[in-house]
Amino acid sequence: MRYLILSDIHANFEALTAVLHHARRKRYSKILFLGDAVGYGASPNQVMEWLASLGSQVVIVRGNHDRVCAGLDSAEYFNRYARQAADWTHDHLESRHLERLRSLPTGPTRIEPGLLICHGSPVDEDAYVFSAHDALAAFQLVEEKVILFGHTHVPSAFIASEGDGRHMVQVRLLSGKRTVLDLNGANRYLINPGSVGQPRDRDPRAAYAIYDHEIRRLYQYRVPYRIDLARRKIRQAGLPPVLGDRLLYGA
Ligand code: ZN
Repeated sequence: MRYLILSDIHANFEALTAVLHHARRKRYSKILFLGDAVGYGASPNQVMEWLASLGSQVVIVRGNHDRVCAGLDSAEYFNRYARQAADWTHDHLESRHLERLRSLPTGPTRIEPGLLICHGSPVDEDAYVFSAHDALAAFQLVEEKVILFGHTHVPSAFIASEGDGRHMVQVRLLSGKRTVLDLNGANRYLINPGSVGQPRDRDPRAAYAIYDHEIRRLYQYRVPYRIDLARRKIRQAGLPPVLGDRLLYGA
């Protein structure tokens, strides 16, 4: 099956709209959303409304910001700006969206044989997979060959191969307007499609991917969007201005 892979929208409706427009003629049967629908951005209700409209076309795992913004956990381990945004989001979400946010399933979720999705790492939605070392630990927790994850906001692929009885992990950053990654059936993969609404790899364009599990091919894309609008909405909402400014730099 062919999937549209989205992660870390963070209430940035302008970025989401641009991504959906870019993907409109691409074939896919389902959307896999890897968590963090809200938090940071000024449009949590629009993003939740869109998710609700998808019905069974989307499979979602919640993110750590979804959990905190829903009021299921305290924001004490968030930095000051993330905490302010979480409080703002909780206060501004319509009750039906807040309810939905509270009921989002915790990952990991198996999509089909050999394919798993999660937010952070396969057993911890708060864990970051940044390095080969993190990836090796994550690979040991599950047996799927392909694991799609979010949370770091950095489009990347960690490729595990076995040589001389030892596991080796190769790290590949997925940068540029369009990247094609052909997966080798002998290897295992941890792949992050990047963040739709708050990229952090110094490329401010929205990130997403299309993945075909049948032919094991991933297409990763970057899409320009109206950052000025998203930034203005953040300021007008009374959210910390730095949350809008960082969108300009993809940081
Ligand atoms: Zn996130």
